[in-house]
Amino acid sequence: MIDKEALRRKYRAERDKRLRPDGNAQYKRLTGRFAHYLTDPYTPVAPREPRTDHVTVAFIGGGFAGLVTGARLKEAGVADVRIVEKGGDFGGTWYWNRYPGAQCDTASMVYMPLLEETGHMPTEKYAHGPEILEHCRRIGKQYGLYDNALFHTEVEDLEWDASRSRWTVRTNRGDAFTAQFVAMGTGPLHVPKLPGIDGIDAFEGHSFHTSRWDYAYTGGDPSGAPMDRLADKRVAIIGTGATAVQCVPHLARACRELYVFQRTPSSVDVRNNYPIDPEWFAGIATPGWQRRWLENFTSNQTGGTAEIDLVMDGWTDLSRRIRARYAALGPGEMTLERMAEVYEESDHEKMEEIRARVDAIVADPDTAAGLKAWYRQLCKRPCFHDEYLQAFNVPGTHLVDTDGKGVNRITPSGVVAGGREYEMDCVIYASGFEVGTEYTRRTGYDMTGRGGVKLSEYWSEGMRTLHGTHVHSFPNAFVVQPAQGANLISNIPHNLTEAGATTAAVIRHALDGGFTEVEVTREAEDTWLDLLRTAPPPMRFLPDCTPGYYNNEGQAPSPWSLLNVGYPAGATAYFSYLDRWRESGEFAGLEFR
Ligand code: NDP
Repeated sequence: MIDKEALRRKYRAERDKRLRPDGNAQYKRLTGRFAHYLTDPYTPVAPREPRTDHVTVAFIGGGFAGLVTGARLKEAGVADVRIVEKGGDFGGTWYWNRYPGAQCDTASMVYMPLLEETGHMPTEKYAHGPEILEHCRRIGKQYGLYDNALFHTEVEDLEWDASRSRWTVRTNRGDAFTAQFVAMGTGPLHVPKLPGIDGIDAFEGHSFHTSRWDYAYTGGDPSGAPMDRLADKRVAIIGTGATAVQCVPHLARACRELYVFQRTPSSVDVRNNYPIDPEWFAGIATPGWQRRWLENFTSNQTGGTAEIDLVMDGWTDLSRRIRARYAALGPGEMTLERMAEVYEESDHEKMEEIRARVDAIVADPDTAAGLKAWYRQLCKRPCFHDEYLQAFNVPGTHLVDTDGKGVNRITPSGVVAGGREYEMDCVIYASGFEVGTEYTRRTGYDMTGRGGVKLSEYWSEGMRTLHGTHVHSFPNAFVVQPAQGANLISNIPHNLTEAGATTAAVIRHALDGGFTEVEVTREAEDTWLDLLRTAPPPMRFLPDCTPGYYNNEGQAPSPWSLLNVGYPAGATAYFSYLDRWRESGEFAGLEFR
């Protein structure tokens, strides 16, 4: 029997010791001495002449958002699409994050976009990074997106030219070209950050951030070849989020000594990865299969009515359990309060299982105690892995649990935590990416729309859109991302595919009608925001949640984070609403002129 009150007290105590007044400001940007951390270690920069031409569509970002939107545009007969990407190839997060063990956490069948269109069968239930990166290239090739792409190019300025109804795009490579339409899919997690640790710039050994893995130093490669150059090295990894969970097992195998510095443990549930059987795949891959899988996953994930569960994993297990508890409530019990109560019970049960799993796997009791997560599962990004906890049984692998305080200091020769200095040859920062900062800071440019309005000003009180895509005062511009749409965080690509399809449909309609401009009205934007505000605040803002990027580092929700919400009726309802909105051909709320 779970003592709910005792658990709540424990969760609050664990949260309290982690709360700090500086919130997001604690982290360091990779500038100055750390700027070299951002250098592309994978592809040399090829010299080229600046572009001053005109294209129909410019897309900023060559990750999943750019690829799926580009594909839908090409399918719609829009030939002239230019993707501008800061990396040396397509892939976005999968281009940069090549750390050993990188793997999707949502099942490949629903995570990897355009599988049906490309005919690719994922090799594993959770595909590894190299396969996903190759899939990005496959999409780029199949849809001719390489032809006009600009790699190693960062947009510095986007300005609406009202006299010619087009955007001027300026970049760090001296380009100043124009585009009738612009779309942006810059991703929420692409600006690496460093922990705010005193002395971080004093370290004289080797160091890097996980999103620019230094295989020249470690040996090995992204496909998991042994990192043979670490055999005589003492290595620190700072951070225990989803990235560390995936790369720690590889480091544990390779390093002479590995020290894992932990501030807050992740919840690590069963992964159960396996190869996909081609015969099975041939049987299910009938026309429309990926859409069916996507709809099924989303329905299972968000309390929908799907009777079967095609994906069957940790994500759907979570919501299946909650649904079963709701279903068991009597007719008079269907109150918000009672539903919150049974949700909490289900969460406690799940987290108890996850904590028991630590005890069952980790041999040393102190280490096991340190690895237990004391918060509700969705307060932080849930993780799934079958080798992470096991890595702490490998001789030479040590957990340094800082009891919520974090690393105290970095010295020229190592890392100080709990008052003890650990001498290190190498420090790896698995410290994540900027999330709570302003959109324009993360994109690296500030758009100037109609009448000279800056996007940063227009969004100073939080994001304002219709469907997360269309922004008043920014004609012919589209944002391809999940917030203010379905906001389905367990499968981001599904959001992107839908937003990409919308972008392509609106552009096609504008071109067919001979319109030079399309813009959402202020009224449509207001109505949409009013609707979004009727949704209950996300669970991550519960007072007991431990701080992290999910909940604005435990600070009061910013206007930004409060508007980082989705359609109140849920993701499935949103996707069918959006389908109807597109199919009607009326595009209610948009003004074509
Ligand atoms: P996170 O932001 O999740 O983790 C950063 C880690 O650094 C946390 O453990 C944090 O601790 C720790 N940290 C920060 N400051 C200090 C300090 N001063 N001392 C010690 N530790 C510190 O970054 P990740 O790169 O792990 O993951 C980011 C996101 O990327 C994930 O949440 C997920 O959305 C995505 N991702 C997805 C993957 C997938 O789908 N396969 C794989 C990897 C990442 P604390 O928790 O206390 O803040």
